[in-house]
Amino acid sequence: MPEKLRVGIIGATGMVGQRFVSLLDQHPWFQVVTLAASERSAGKCYKEAVGDRWRMSTPVPSWAAGLVVKNAALVDEVSKGLDLAFCAVDMPKEETKALEERYAKAEVPVVSNNSANRLQPDVPMVLPEINSSHFSAIETQKKRLGTRRGFIIVKPNCSIQSYVPALHPLWDFGIEKVFVCTYQAISGAGKTFKDWPEMEDNVMPFIRGEEEKSEIEPMKIWGNVQGGKIVNAAEPVITSQCIRVPVTDGHLAAVFVSFKRKPSIQQIREAWTSFEGKPQKLHLPSAPTPFLRYFEDDNRPQTRLDRDASRGMGITVGRLREDRILDYRFVCLSHNTVRGAAGGGILSAELLRAEGYIDGAGR
Ligand code: NAP
Repeated sequence: MPEKLRVGIIGATGMVGQRFVSLLDQHPWFQVVTLAASERSAGKCYKEAVGDRWRMSTPVPSWAAGLVVKNAALVDEVSKGLDLAFCAVDMPKEETKALEERYAKAEVPVVSNNSANRLQPDVPMVLPEINSSHFSAIETQKKRLGTRRGFIIVKPNCSIQSYVPALHPLWDFGIEKVFVCTYQAISGAGKTFKDWPEMEDNVMPFIRGEEEKSEIEPMKIWGNVQGGKIVNAAEPVITSQCIRVPVTDGHLAAVFVSFKRKPSIQQIREAWTSFEGKPQKLHLPSAPTPFLRYFEDDNRPQTRLDRDASRGMGITVGRLREDRILDYRFVCLSHNTVRGAAGGGILSAELLRAEGYIDGAGR
Protein backbone atom coordinates (compact mmCIF):
# COMPACT_ATOMS: atom_id res chain seq x y z
CA MET A 1 0.00 0.00 0.00
CA PRO A 2 1.39 3.45 -0.92
CA GLU A 3 2.02 6.21 1.62
CA LYS A 4 -0.63 6.73 4.30
CA LEU A 5 -3.25 9.43 3.74
CA ARG A 6 -3.04 12.42 6.09
CA VAL A 7 -6.27 12.82 7.97
CA GLY A 8 -7.83 15.29 10.37
CA ILE A 9 -10.54 14.74 12.98
CA ILE A 10 -12.96 17.62 13.50
CA GLY A 11 -14.72 17.30 16.84
CA ALA A 12 -11.78 15.21 18.08
CA THR A 13 -12.49 15.85 21.77
CA GLY A 14 -16.07 14.48 21.75
CA MET A 15 -17.37 10.97 22.28
CA VAL A 16 -17.21 10.06 18.59
CA GLY A 17 -14.01 12.04 18.02
CA GLN A 18 -12.28 10.08 20.79
CA ARG A 19 -13.42 6.86 19.15
CA PHE A 20 -11.84 8.06 15.86
CA VAL A 21 -8.59 8.80 17.70
CA SER A 22 -8.51 5.37 19.27
CA LEU A 23 -9.57 3.41 16.15
CA LEU A 24 -7.10 5.28 13.91
CA ASP A 25 -4.18 4.45 16.22
CA GLN A 26 -1.82 2.44 13.95
CA HIS A 27 -4.31 2.40 11.06
CA PRO A 28 -2.53 0.93 8.01
CA TRP A 29 -3.89 3.49 5.50
CA PHE A 30 -4.58 6.67 7.49
CA GLN A 31 -2.37 8.82 9.67
CA VAL A 32 -3.98 11.42 11.91
CA VAL A 33 -2.05 14.67 11.59
CA THR A 34 -4.62 17.24 12.74
CA LEU A 35 -7.13 17.35 15.59
CA ALA A 36 -9.70 20.16 15.75
CA ALA A 37 -12.60 21.09 18.02
CA SER A 38 -14.32 24.22 19.30
CA GLU A 39 -12.46 27.35 20.34
CA ARG A 40 -12.81 26.10 23.95
CA SER A 41 -10.28 23.36 23.19
CA ALA A 42 -8.19 25.21 20.60
CA GLY A 43 -4.57 25.87 21.56
CA LYS A 44 -4.48 23.13 24.21
CA CYS A 45 -2.68 19.85 23.72
CA TYR A 46 -5.16 17.04 23.06
CA LYS A 47 -4.71 15.29 26.40
CA GLU A 48 -5.38 18.52 28.26
CA ALA A 49 -8.32 19.49 26.02
CA VAL A 50 -10.02 16.14 26.61
CA GLY A 51 -9.12 16.12 30.30
CA ASP A 52 -11.40 13.84 32.33
CA ARG A 53 -13.78 13.46 29.35
CA TRP A 54 -11.67 10.62 27.86
CA ARG A 55 -14.09 7.66 27.71
CA MET A 56 -12.21 5.00 25.80
CA SER A 57 -11.01 1.84 27.54
CA THR A 58 -7.46 2.31 26.19
CA PRO A 59 -5.31 5.37 27.07
CA VAL A 60 -4.97 8.41 24.78
CA PRO A 61 -2.47 7.26 22.10
CA SER A 62 0.92 8.90 22.63
CA TRP A 63 0.97 10.51 19.14
CA ALA A 64 -2.37 12.23 19.95
CA ALA A 65 -1.68 13.30 23.53
CA GLY A 66 0.69 16.12 22.60
CA LEU A 67 -0.97 17.33 19.38
CA VAL A 68 -2.21 20.89 19.75
CA VAL A 69 -5.95 21.06 19.04
CA LYS A 70 -6.91 23.52 16.31
CA ASN A 71 -10.01 25.69 16.09
CA ALA A 72 -12.32 23.91 13.60
CA ALA A 73 -13.73 27.26 12.46
CA LEU A 74 -10.34 28.22 10.98
CA VAL A 75 -10.92 26.05 7.94
CA ASP A 76 -7.94 27.20 5.85
CA GLU A 77 -5.51 26.52 8.68
CA VAL A 78 -7.03 23.14 9.63
CA SER A 79 -7.31 21.93 6.01
CA LYS A 80 -3.67 22.53 5.20
CA GLY A 81 -2.06 19.28 4.03
CA LEU A 82 -5.11 17.10 4.68
CA ASP A 83 -6.17 14.35 2.30
CA LEU A 84 -9.34 13.63 4.26
CA ALA A 85 -11.28 14.81 7.33
CA PHE A 86 -13.60 12.92 9.66
CA CYS A 87 -16.19 15.20 11.21
CA ALA A 88 -18.27 14.63 14.38
CA VAL A 89 -19.32 17.90 15.99
CA ASP A 90 -22.11 18.89 18.31
CA MET A 91 -23.29 22.12 16.68
CA PRO A 92 -26.59 23.46 15.36
CA LYS A 93 -27.55 21.76 12.10
CA GLU A 94 -27.18 24.77 9.81
CA GLU A 95 -23.76 25.59 11.26
CA THR A 96 -22.61 21.99 10.86
CA LYS A 97 -23.82 21.91 7.26
CA ALA A 98 -22.00 25.16 6.50
CA LEU A 99 -18.81 23.96 8.25
CA GLU A 100 -18.73 20.69 6.30
CA GLU A 101 -19.27 22.55 3.03
CA ARG A 102 -16.46 24.96 3.86
CA TYR A 103 -14.08 22.00 4.31
CA ALA A 104 -15.26 20.42 1.06
CA LYS A 105 -14.74 23.76 -0.70
CA ALA A 106 -11.23 23.88 0.79
CA GLU A 107 -10.78 20.67 -1.29
CA VAL A 108 -10.83 18.28 1.68
CA PRO A 109 -13.07 15.22 1.30
CA VAL A 110 -15.22 15.00 4.45
CA VAL A 111 -16.61 11.79 5.98
CA SER A 112 -19.26 13.05 8.35
CA ASN A 113 -20.99 11.56 11.38
CA ASN A 114 -23.40 14.48 11.65
CA SER A 115 -26.96 14.49 10.40
CA ALA A 116 -26.84 17.96 8.79
CA ASN A 117 -26.07 16.83 5.23
CA ARG A 118 -27.74 13.41 5.34
CA LEU A 119 -30.80 14.19 3.27
CA GLN A 120 -29.05 16.13 0.48
CA PRO A 121 -29.76 14.08 -2.68
CA ASP A 122 -26.18 14.44 -3.97
CA VAL A 123 -24.55 13.50 -0.64
CA PRO A 124 -24.10 9.73 -0.34
CA MET A 125 -25.26 8.36 3.03
CA VAL A 126 -23.36 5.14 3.15
CA LEU A 127 -23.49 1.82 4.89
CA PRO A 128 -20.41 0.46 3.11
CA GLU A 129 -21.70 -3.12 2.80
CA ILE A 130 -24.96 -1.95 1.22
CA ASN A 131 -24.95 1.17 -0.93
CA SER A 132 -21.47 2.26 -2.00
CA SER A 133 -22.94 2.59 -5.52
CA HIS A 134 -24.23 5.97 -4.22
CA PHE A 135 -20.63 7.27 -4.37
CA SER A 136 -21.42 8.01 -8.03
CA ALA A 137 -23.47 11.04 -6.84
CA ILE A 138 -20.21 12.66 -5.66
CA GLU A 139 -19.60 14.05 -9.16
CA THR A 140 -22.93 15.93 -9.05
CA GLN A 141 -22.11 17.24 -5.61
CA LYS A 142 -18.69 18.48 -6.70
CA LYS A 143 -20.36 20.43 -9.50
CA ARG A 144 -22.80 22.00 -7.00
CA LEU A 145 -19.99 22.93 -4.61
CA GLY A 146 -17.60 23.94 -7.41
CA THR A 147 -14.85 21.65 -6.12
CA ARG A 148 -12.14 19.57 -7.74
CA ARG A 149 -11.53 16.98 -5.02
CA GLY A 150 -13.55 18.15 -2.00
CA PHE A 151 -16.90 16.50 -1.23
CA ILE A 152 -18.99 15.23 1.68
CA ILE A 153 -20.23 11.75 2.38
CA VAL A 154 -22.20 10.93 5.52
CA LYS A 155 -22.74 7.96 7.73
CA PRO A 156 -26.34 7.16 8.65
CA ASN A 157 -27.78 7.50 12.14
CA CYS A 158 -26.54 4.94 14.66
CA SER A 159 -30.10 3.74 15.46
CA ILE A 160 -30.53 2.05 12.05
CA GLN A 161 -27.19 0.27 11.88
CA SER A 162 -28.36 -3.02 13.30
CA TYR A 163 -31.67 -3.52 11.51
CA VAL A 164 -30.86 -2.13 8.05
CA PRO A 165 -27.88 -4.53 7.73
CA ALA A 166 -30.09 -7.41 8.93
CA LEU A 167 -32.95 -6.55 6.55
CA HIS A 168 -30.82 -5.82 3.50
CA PRO A 169 -29.89 -9.45 2.64
CA LEU A 170 -33.66 -10.18 2.60
CA TRP A 171 -34.38 -7.52 -0.04
CA ASP A 172 -35.20 -9.97 -2.83
CA PHE A 173 -38.12 -11.39 -0.81
CA GLY A 174 -39.83 -7.99 -1.14
CA ILE A 175 -39.70 -6.37 2.31
CA GLU A 176 -43.14 -4.84 2.81
CA LYS A 177 -43.57 -3.57 6.38
CA VAL A 178 -41.13 -3.12 9.25
CA PHE A 179 -41.95 -2.37 12.88
CA VAL A 180 -38.86 -1.68 14.93
CA CYS A 181 -38.20 -0.77 18.53
CA THR A 182 -34.65 0.31 19.39
CA TYR A 183 -33.04 0.13 22.83
CA GLN A 184 -30.27 2.70 22.65
CA ALA A 185 -27.18 3.24 24.78
CA ILE A 186 -26.43 6.49 26.59
CA SER A 187 -23.17 7.01 24.67
CA GLY A 188 -25.46 7.69 21.70
CA ALA A 189 -26.18 11.01 23.40
CA GLY A 190 -22.43 11.56 23.98
CA LYS A 191 -22.96 10.70 27.67
CA THR A 192 -21.72 8.41 30.45
CA PHE A 193 -23.51 7.53 33.70
CA LYS A 194 -21.27 10.05 35.45
CA ASP A 195 -22.68 12.94 33.44
CA TRP A 196 -26.19 11.49 33.10
CA PRO A 197 -27.05 10.01 36.53
CA GLU A 198 -30.79 10.16 35.73
CA MET A 199 -30.25 7.23 33.40
CA GLU A 200 -29.23 4.85 36.19
CA ASP A 201 -32.03 2.35 36.93
CA ASN A 202 -34.15 4.11 34.33
CA VAL A 203 -35.57 3.94 30.81
CA MET A 204 -36.44 7.09 28.82
CA PRO A 205 -39.21 6.80 26.23
CA PHE A 206 -38.05 9.62 23.94
CA ILE A 207 -34.95 10.45 21.88
CA ARG A 208 -35.47 13.66 19.98
CA GLY A 209 -35.50 13.23 16.20
CA GLU A 210 -34.49 9.57 16.36
CA GLU A 211 -37.73 7.96 15.19
CA GLU A 212 -37.92 10.22 12.13
CA LYS A 213 -34.32 9.33 11.21
CA SER A 214 -34.97 5.64 11.84
CA GLU A 215 -37.87 5.64 9.41
CA ILE A 216 -36.52 7.95 6.68
CA GLU A 217 -32.79 7.19 6.44
CA PRO A 218 -33.19 3.52 5.39
CA MET A 219 -35.22 4.72 2.39
CA LYS A 220 -32.27 6.77 1.18
CA ILE A 221 -29.85 3.88 1.74
CA TRP A 222 -32.08 1.59 -0.33
CA GLY A 223 -32.56 4.30 -2.98
CA ASN A 224 -30.99 4.54 -6.45
CA VAL A 225 -28.85 7.10 -8.19
CA GLN A 226 -30.84 8.67 -11.02
CA GLY A 227 -29.41 11.55 -13.05
CA GLY A 228 -26.56 11.91 -10.54
CA LYS A 229 -28.85 12.24 -7.50
CA ILE A 230 -30.06 9.70 -4.97
CA VAL A 231 -33.78 8.99 -5.20
CA ASN A 232 -35.24 7.34 -2.08
CA ALA A 233 -36.78 3.88 -2.24
CA ALA A 234 -40.59 3.88 -2.05
CA GLU A 235 -40.78 0.69 0.04
CA PRO A 236 -40.85 -0.77 2.68
CA VAL A 237 -42.97 1.17 5.19
CA ILE A 238 -41.08 1.50 8.47
CA THR A 239 -42.48 2.52 11.84
CA SER A 240 -40.25 2.85 14.88
CA GLN A 241 -40.03 3.59 18.59
CA CYS A 242 -36.63 4.61 19.94
CA ILE A 243 -36.02 4.13 23.65
CA ARG A 244 -33.01 5.14 25.75
CA VAL A 245 -31.87 2.36 28.09
CA PRO A 246 -29.24 2.29 30.85
CA VAL A 247 -26.32 0.72 28.99
CA THR A 248 -23.03 2.42 28.13
CA ASP A 249 -22.64 1.29 24.48
CA GLY A 250 -24.64 -0.75 21.99
CA HIS A 251 -27.98 -0.17 20.28
CA LEU A 252 -30.26 -3.21 20.20
CA ALA A 253 -33.33 -3.43 17.94
CA ALA A 254 -36.42 -5.65 18.09
CA VAL A 255 -37.73 -6.03 14.54
CA PHE A 256 -41.03 -7.28 13.09
CA VAL A 257 -41.16 -7.70 9.31
CA SER A 258 -43.52 -8.80 6.52
CA PHE A 259 -42.61 -9.76 2.96
CA LYS A 260 -44.31 -9.88 -0.44
CA ARG A 261 -42.86 -13.38 -0.91
CA LYS A 262 -42.52 -14.89 2.55
CA PRO A 263 -39.21 -16.76 2.87
CA SER A 264 -38.65 -19.76 5.13
CA ILE A 265 -36.68 -19.41 8.33
CA GLN A 266 -33.90 -21.41 6.70
CA GLN A 267 -33.80 -19.04 3.70
CA ILE A 268 -33.50 -16.04 6.01
CA ARG A 269 -30.68 -17.59 7.97
CA GLU A 270 -28.85 -18.55 4.79
CA ALA A 271 -29.29 -15.04 3.41
CA TRP A 272 -27.74 -13.63 6.59
CA THR A 273 -24.81 -15.99 6.90
CA SER A 274 -23.85 -15.88 3.22
CA PHE A 275 -24.11 -12.08 2.85
CA GLU A 276 -20.90 -10.24 2.02
CA GLY A 277 -20.51 -6.62 1.05
CA LYS A 278 -17.72 -4.91 -0.87
CA PRO A 279 -15.66 -4.28 2.31
CA GLN A 280 -15.48 -8.04 2.93
CA LYS A 281 -14.74 -8.84 -0.73
CA LEU A 282 -11.99 -6.20 -0.84
CA HIS A 283 -10.61 -7.23 2.58
CA LEU A 284 -10.65 -3.63 3.80
CA PRO A 285 -8.71 -3.14 7.05
CA SER A 286 -11.82 -2.40 9.18
CA ALA A 287 -14.20 -4.84 7.46
CA PRO A 288 -15.81 -7.27 9.90
CA THR A 289 -15.82 -10.91 8.91
CA PRO A 290 -18.51 -12.02 9.13
CA PHE A 291 -20.59 -8.88 8.62
CA LEU A 292 -23.64 -10.56 10.20
CA ARG A 293 -23.49 -13.28 12.81
CA TYR A 294 -26.58 -15.29 13.74
CA PHE A 295 -26.93 -16.79 17.23
CA GLU A 296 -28.86 -20.04 17.81
CA ASP A 297 -28.97 -19.33 21.54
CA ASP A 298 -32.27 -17.60 22.46
CA ASN A 299 -30.44 -15.48 24.97
CA ARG A 300 -28.31 -13.63 22.39
CA PRO A 301 -27.42 -11.12 21.15
CA GLN A 302 -26.92 -9.35 24.46
CA THR A 303 -25.70 -5.77 24.51
CA ARG A 304 -22.80 -6.26 26.89
CA LEU A 305 -21.66 -9.62 25.54
CA ASP A 306 -21.98 -8.98 21.82
CA ARG A 307 -21.53 -5.27 21.03
CA ASP A 308 -17.79 -5.81 20.46
CA ALA A 309 -18.29 -8.53 17.81
CA SER A 310 -15.55 -8.19 15.16
CA ARG A 311 -13.99 -5.26 17.07
CA GLY A 312 -17.36 -3.50 17.29
CA MET A 313 -17.88 -3.57 13.50
CA GLY A 314 -19.99 -6.74 13.26
CA ILE A 315 -23.78 -6.96 13.47
CA THR A 316 -25.23 -9.74 15.62
CA VAL A 317 -28.70 -11.21 15.13
CA GLY A 318 -30.83 -13.73 17.01
CA ARG A 319 -34.30 -14.88 18.06
CA LEU A 320 -35.64 -15.29 14.51
CA ARG A 321 -39.16 -16.70 14.73
CA GLU A 322 -42.63 -16.45 13.18
CA ASP A 323 -44.79 -13.49 14.19
CA ARG A 324 -48.55 -13.49 14.81
CA ILE A 325 -49.19 -10.17 13.03
CA LEU A 326 -46.35 -9.74 10.51
CA ASP A 327 -44.29 -12.65 9.07
CA TYR A 328 -41.22 -12.79 11.32
CA ARG A 329 -39.57 -11.12 14.27
CA PHE A 330 -35.95 -11.03 15.41
CA VAL A 331 -33.47 -9.07 17.52
CA CYS A 332 -30.25 -7.42 16.29
CA LEU A 333 -27.42 -5.38 17.76
CA SER A 334 -24.64 -3.02 16.72
CA HIS A 335 -22.05 -0.94 18.57
CA ASN A 336 -23.25 2.65 18.27
CA THR A 337 -19.95 4.49 18.59
CA VAL A 338 -17.91 1.96 16.57
CA ARG A 339 -20.04 0.56 13.68
CA GLY A 340 -22.67 3.27 14.25
CA ALA A 341 -20.22 6.17 14.27
CA ALA A 342 -16.41 6.32 13.99
CA GLY A 343 -15.79 2.75 12.79
CA GLY A 344 -18.49 3.05 10.13
CA GLY A 345 -16.93 6.34 8.98
CA ILE A 346 -13.47 4.78 8.78
CA LEU A 347 -14.78 1.79 6.79
CA SER A 348 -16.50 4.21 4.37
CA ALA A 349 -13.22 6.11 3.98
CA GLU A 350 -11.37 2.86 3.30
CA LEU A 351 -13.87 2.05 0.57
CA LEU A 352 -13.55 5.57 -0.88
CA ARG A 353 -9.83 5.01 -1.08
CA ALA A 354 -10.11 1.51 -2.51
CA GLU A 355 -12.44 2.85 -5.23
CA GLY A 356 -10.22 5.83 -6.07
CA TYR A 357 -12.42 8.64 -4.69
CA ILE A 358 -9.70 9.87 -2.32
CA ASP A 359 -5.96 9.93 -2.67
CA GLY A 360 -2.91 11.80 -1.48
CA ALA A 361 -2.85 14.19 -4.42
CA GLY A 362 -4.43 17.14 -2.63
CA ARG A 363 -1.59 18.31 -0.37
P1 NAP B 1 -19.90 15.26 21.93
O1 NAP B 1 -19.30 14.19 22.76
O2 NAP B 1 -20.76 16.26 22.59
O3 NAP B 1 -18.68 16.02 21.18
C1 NAP B 1 -18.91 17.17 20.42
C2 NAP B 1 -17.64 17.62 19.71
O4 NAP B 1 -18.00 18.76 18.92
C3 NAP B 1 -16.52 18.07 20.63
O5 NAP B 1 -15.27 17.75 20.04
C4 NAP B 1 -16.69 19.58 20.67
O6 NAP B 1 -15.49 20.29 20.95
C5 NAP B 1 -17.09 19.82 19.23
N1 NAP B 1 -17.76 21.10 19.06
C6 NAP B 1 -18.81 21.60 19.76
N2 NAP B 1 -19.10 22.85 19.32
C7 NAP B 1 -18.23 23.12 18.32
C8 NAP B 1 -18.00 24.25 17.49
N3 NAP B 1 -18.74 25.35 17.57
N4 NAP B 1 -17.01 24.17 16.57
C9 NAP B 1 -16.23 23.06 16.46
N5 NAP B 1 -16.38 21.97 17.24
C10 NAP B 1 -17.37 22.01 18.16
O7 NAP B 1 -20.78 14.67 20.73
P2 NAP B 1 -20.69 13.21 20.03
O8 NAP B 1 -21.53 12.23 20.74
O9 NAP B 1 -19.25 12.90 19.78
O10 NAP B 1 -21.43 13.50 18.66
C11 NAP B 1 -20.81 14.26 17.63
C12 NAP B 1 -21.64 14.11 16.36
O11 NAP B 1 -21.70 12.74 15.99
C13 NAP B 1 -23.09 14.59 16.53
O12 NAP B 1 -23.53 15.16 15.31
C14 NAP B 1 -23.84 13.28 16.79
O13 NAP B 1 -25.18 13.36 16.40
C15 NAP B 1 -23.07 12.33 15.89
N6 NAP B 1 -23.15 10.91 16.27
C16 NAP B 1 -22.98 10.50 17.56
C17 NAP B 1 -23.07 9.12 17.84
C18 NAP B 1 -22.85 8.57 19.23
O14 NAP B 1 -23.07 7.36 19.40
N7 NAP B 1 -22.42 9.37 20.20
C19 NAP B 1 -23.31 8.21 16.83
C20 NAP B 1 -23.46 8.67 15.52
C21 NAP B 1 -23.37 10.01 15.27
P3 NAP B 1 -15.14 20.85 22.44
O15 NAP B 1 -14.69 19.67 23.24
O16 NAP B 1 -14.06 21.81 22.17
O17 NAP B 1 -16.39 21.47 22.97
